[in-house]
Formats: sequence, structure tokens, C-alpha cells
Amino acid sequence: METPSKDEIQQLRDKLAVKPRLVWDRLDAAERAAVLAYAERYKHFLDVAKTERQAVVEIQRQAQERGFVDLGSDRPGSRFYLNYRGKTIALVVLGKQPVSAGLRIIAAHIDSPRLDLKQYPIYEEGDLTFLKTHYYGGIKKYQWLARPLALHGVILKANGETVNLRVGEEDSDPVFTVCDLLPHLARKVQMDKKVDEAFIGEKLNLLAGSLPYGNDDTKERFKLHLLNLLSEQYGLQEEDLVSAELEVVPAGRARDLGWDRSLIGGYGQDDRACAYAALEAIFKVQEPPYTCLALFVDKEEVGSDGNTSAKSCLLEELVTQLLERQGEGRQGRRAALMGSKAISADVNGALDPDWPEVHEKHNAARLGYGVCITKFTGHGGKYLTNDAHAEYVGWIRRLFNRQSVVWQAGELGKVDEGGGGTIAKFLAIQGMDIIDCGTPVLSMHSPFEVASKGDLYMTYKAYRGFFADDQE
Ligand code: MN
Ligand code: MN
Repeated sequence: METPSKDEIQQLRDKLAVKPRLVWDRLDAAERAAVLAYAERYKHFLDVAKTERQAVVEIQRQAQERGFVDLGSDRPGSRFYLNYRGKTIALVVLGKQPVSAGLRIIAAHIDSPRLDLKQYPIYEEGDLTFLKTHYYGGIKKYQWLARPLALHGVILKANGETVNLRVGEEDSDPVFTVCDLLPHLARKVQMDKKVDEAFIGEKLNLLAGSLPYGNDDTKERFKLHLLNLLSEQYGLQEEDLVSAELEVVPAGRARDLGWDRSLIGGYGQDDRACAYAALEAIFKVQEPPYTCLALFVDKEEVGSDGNTSAKSCLLEELVTQLLERQGEGRQGRRAALMGSKAISADVNGALDPDWPEVHEKHNAARLGYGVCITKFTGHGGKYLTNDAHAEYVGWIRRLFNRQSVVWQAGELGKVDEGGGGTIAKFLAIQGMDIIDCGTPVLSMHSPFEVASKGDLYMTYKAYRGFFADDQE
């Protein structure tokens, strides 16, 4: 056989080998402008929706503005929302096909790792006032020390009245912090220990004041000062904090990151990157072939337990209500769920160039290379995951290529390095085909997560295409 020429070799490679596609290489001027404009709207969402409750409020507000009506009302329409307990919300756009023909579902979560206040949080020690916390979700505890923190949430007073709290976000607001030990004294208790042992959950206490009430004969006068302040400002008593959900999150806004402003840094991008993309995608949908559902769930970060989670009966109930509204009868529910196609819209940890040893570079998601499809998550030996069928991966791949979406496939970490899960496996139980698909993120689960504006936009473009595409 003759040795092939350089040209022939190149032609063969172009024809046969996978070529990673960088989003920035693929944008014309108009789409580049769309990427940057999308990033501004997304940053605003990060700022106003730092907790699951705030995300529900903002999603509902935007939906109502666009003519979505409450599914529980008898108002007619083709665009609905269903708000469940203020912590999870679904948006629906009816399709040309009947609901029993199956839905197109994009499900994202709107809770993020954080610190929650305990039910009796206030105490004083060393003439300072503190608030006790219990962390929520998978955090690296040291990342929450020595940084400004804000307090968001609700308090139910004795008379049933609700107080909404949002302290630490405005420039005029005070902030809170968890103090860290000075390096000079940290050698034995922190530096010589394993990280896990050096940073202790029970020490994640929020510094909340230092003023006393009364004179120095007064018992617990620092705690009393804070109680008095809460009473004067909000009409609260200490017992009210038992019926409260107060979430401690990093204070401050999402920011452009890097000299070239190509990235965004901010809290809660897992999973607002995907939640916001799903939101804009369903707003864009007009008369879709199949009924579209954007589902925004709570409790993903703690295993999806509870009645506002992906494991709850909410999806089944929603589909039942849709069938009844369309006069199809609830017996079509099983067919609707089993005939659905779904995206578990969640972020994936991107390859971190400083830590190549935890990634397998041939199969890791990379920042800037578009929305990432993840066939399976789980850990060691593919445990505890939905492993999407090849047929469905093929369907998604053809769809994204038709819609000119810049996409990549990525696996989370090396085999046996660790792992993680998403809500895909909980929705898969209903019989639908589902695959994980979302934005690659650096510093995932940290107080300052990083995503590429190009990937964020491609996530939106992928979801929009998924809702609008009319191919079987
Ligand atoms: Mn997530
Ligand atoms: Mn997460």
C-alpha cells in the first residue's frame, strides 16, 4: 500500500475523528451578542434568586408577566404554572399533540449548598453574640469561613404571620461571618490535621453582634440585646425562630470574571445555570409539537427527599391535572409519563487544570466547549444512577446537531475517584427516557462557582431546541 499524503491523512481525520468544538469559535457576531446579553439576564437571576423560595417567586413573577396562568385556577390558556408550597414550581406550555402522547420535560433544581440556622440559634460566648448553623448539602466547610455572609428566609410568628428576611445583600445592610483562626495559632488544631477534621461543622457559628443590653448585672445581656433588636425590627420572639427557615448564603452579587469578561463567578450556579436556561427556553416556546414542562425542584442537594423534591408525587399530580384540563381523563397518566422525553438539567464539574489527577481528560467536561451531556452519574461501577440508553443519547445528539448546539459529552471524574448524583434517576422511575445535560462549572459547590458565558448560552440553546424540535 502506498503511503497516504499529508492531505489524505488530514481528510481522513476530519472525516472520522471527534473534534472538540469551542463555543467562541462557533459564534457569528449576532450570536456572540446574544451570548453576552443572556449573561446579563442570568446574573440578575443569580442575584434575586439565591434561595429556592426566592427562585420560585422570581420564576412565577416572570411567568405571570408572560401570560402564564395558575394551573389550579379555571382560567383558560395554554401556558400554566403550578407553585407548590413556595419551594418548587412547574411551567407548562401545551403542545399540538395530546398530553397522553408524552411531554418534553426539563427538570432543574433550585436549592444550593448553604448553612441553615438551627431552631434555637442565638447564644452568647465571650461577650459576643452568635447564631448556630447546620450545613445543607455538600460543602467544603473551610470555604465558608472569613467571608461576608447574608441571611435569607422566612419566620412564622406565633400568630401565623410570616416575616420575610433578606439581610446582607444591599450596601447599606450589615453582613455576618464565620470567624477563622489566625494562622499563628492554627498549627496544631488545623494545619497538622486532615481537612475534614480541621474544620468542624459545629464550629460554623455566625458572628451576629457584640452590644450588651442593660448593665453588667444583666444575665445573658448580649443575647438579650439581639432578641430586643429582633423584637423591635420584626416583632419577633425567640420561639418564632423554631418555626423559621433561615439560610446563610455568600453575600454579594454575581460578577463578570476574567479580564475578558468571558466567565461568570457567583453563588448558586449549581443549579441556577440550568434552571435559568430552562426558564428562558420555555418562555421562547410557541405552539410546540409536544407539551413542554420546565420543572424546578427543591432538595436535590440533600438527596431529593421531602414533598418539594423530585421524588415527590408532584410530577404525577401535575400530569393528571393537565390530562383532566384537556379532557383526556386521568387514565392517560401512565402513557404520558412513559412516553415522555426528559432532560435532567444539572451542572457538571469541569476539568480543573490545577487538579488534572482527579479527572480523566478524554472524558471530562471542559469549560468553553458547550453544554455537557452526561450519560450516567453515580459512583464506582455506575451505582445509583440513571444510565441513559444509547438510543436516547443518539436521539439527543441528532437533535442538538440539527439545532446547531455546541455540545460535549462529559463524565464526572476518574473511575473510583468519587462521584455524585442528580435527579435523573428519580424521574426515570416514571418510565420516561432521561439524560443529564447541563453547564460545566469550576469550583462547583463553592461559595463562588465559575461558568463560561458561552456554555451558559449553549445550555439555553440546547433546552430551547429540545422543547421546540418536532422530530420523533
Ligand atoms: Mn446540581
Ligand atoms: Mn449540587
